[in-house]
Amino acid sequence: MDNKALAQKLFPDIDKTPDFWEEKYPKRDLKEGARVTRFAPSPTGFLHFGNLFTCLVSYKTAKSTGGVFYVRVEDTDQKRKVEGAIEVMLKGLSVYGIVPDEGVVAEDKEVGDYAPYYQSARKEIYQTYAKALVEQGLAYPCFMTPEELEDIRAQQENESIKGIWGKWAKHRDLNFDEICERIDRGEAWTLRLKSPGDIEKKCYFDDMIKGKIEMPENVQDVVILKSDGIPTYHFAHAIDDHLMRTTHVVRGDEWISSAPIHLQLFRVLGFKPPKYAHVAPIMKEENGGKRKLSKRKDPEAAVTYYAEQGFPSESVNEYMLTLANSNFEDWRRANPNEDIEKFPFNLKKMSVSGALFDMVKLTDVSKNVICKMSAKKVFDLSYEWAKEYSAELASLYEQDTERATAILNIDRENKKPRKDIAKWSDIPDYISYMFDETFIPCYELAGNATPALAVKVLEKYIDCVNLNDDKDTWFNRMKELCPCVGCTPNVKEFKQNPDAFEGHVGDVSTIIRVALTGRTNTPDLCAITMLLGEERVKARLAAALNHYKEEV
Ligand code: GLU
Repeated sequence: MDNKALAQKLFPDIDKTPDFWEEKYPKRDLKEGARVTRFAPSPTGFLHFGNLFTCLVSYKTAKSTGGVFYVRVEDTDQKRKVEGAIEVMLKGLSVYGIVPDEGVVAEDKEVGDYAPYYQSARKEIYQTYAKALVEQGLAYPCFMTPEELEDIRAQQENESIKGIWGKWAKHRDLNFDEICERIDRGEAWTLRLKSPGDIEKKCYFDDMIKGKIEMPENVQDVVILKSDGIPTYHFAHAIDDHLMRTTHVVRGDEWISSAPIHLQLFRVLGFKPPKYAHVAPIMKEENGGKRKLSKRKDPEAAVTYYAEQGFPSESVNEYMLTLANSNFEDWRRANPNEDIEKFPFNLKKMSVSGALFDMVKLTDVSKNVICKMSAKKVFDLSYEWAKEYSAELASLYEQDTERATAILNIDRENKKPRKDIAKWSDIPDYISYMFDETFIPCYELAGNATPALAVKVLEKYIDCVNLNDDKDTWFNRMKELCPCVGCTPNVKEFKQNPDAFEGHVGDVSTIIRVALTGRTNTPDLCAITMLLGEERVKARLAAALNHYKEEV
């Protein structure tokens, strides 16, 4: 077989050689140990939480070594392409601080010396290498029809090794004349790798996350170019990651079973293979078992879910690191106020089998993140969120932004801030009693407080409430009220002699709390009283008094 003639017949328009591209895309000039990684999405427009997670791992791998992180768009399957998808994905990433150094940085903007970063624009490159493989007798055209392939698939149902290899590789050795004849007749062909694999041999590699891996060598003559001349994932991965000089391929572990194909492709192409880090999928507990976080079943599988719910990106980032590195939480405990960027991310500390998604944990992490934010920051971020997702909250804020910020500052910016808010969508309920529009009176009491006691407390308190009280004066006022209504200011005393009193100072303040907020548990009541303002306070106390009077 004249391989050169065959290559020319298959790729008459390709006049470049691999050397051309090797020169055009030289090795990167980076400092020792700097890693080059990438995110390679298909432009479907849907960003799965698992993709974001893998992307974060890839990003951290580059950034923690002073390397380069780039985005390459894998748009060879034009059928799956969705308009505006890239913008959506890049925005999704930037929310979490992931901004590529290079590659596709906006739908219509590519930066970097290794362009084009859209696979659809790299056809000539793939075909150059395909042509070179044909010239070396390492690839061949295959004319099998979809029906023939289907037939083979059916026959192989019980075979352990499937695909086109051995006796199934019918077009491996077609002669030149026959190939030309078929092409001239207009028959469609795909280009297959002439796999040099040996069924008896193993392929080995050291995965950065999974450790040492041993698998049978690839023996399949996999398709490398489809009938439209577009590469398969396998081929594009080898060419692109080589030419873009990726050092570490961080990707989902669904690709691990194809790694023998990829390593073989790197070998026949004469490329040094990258290091692989295969990230296990994020799992979810269900009925005592585990399953993958599913786009179909779990709303939290969509990255947009977190923005809609109003989880600050800092919380999600913090949570993703707890999933990514087993030592992150220890580091956080030791460095509670340190910038998350300082965490020494390590691929070796990744879970081999798949981290478990846990909403309770995310909620907890987020409460811890939010409780450390200033009131101004909580206001700004939640206002941004509200403008998009809660017109009601936005309009409450807009009544008086200073008051809104002060409300958010209750029990904040101190040593032991409260942890009531996990996400911005918690805020409307959390602050509802601060606004007449959203306040829902509820006069249910707790502890030793009874309607009869409430009548007495409220009658007295209405006369002495003073909005200028500071915290201590306010609390002293509560205590002073006690003897006038048959209660004791001293909880201990009440416990020792409960029959002698109607209640204690806690019950007195519960009555006032319930009257003012409709709740038995709120942040600092003194601050709430002050921010409610005299008019609201008097009106609510009076309404509550009426209610209890009717009840007794
Ligand atoms: N486009 C592939 C995917 O979305 C990329 C896999 C890879 O990172 O190599 O699964």
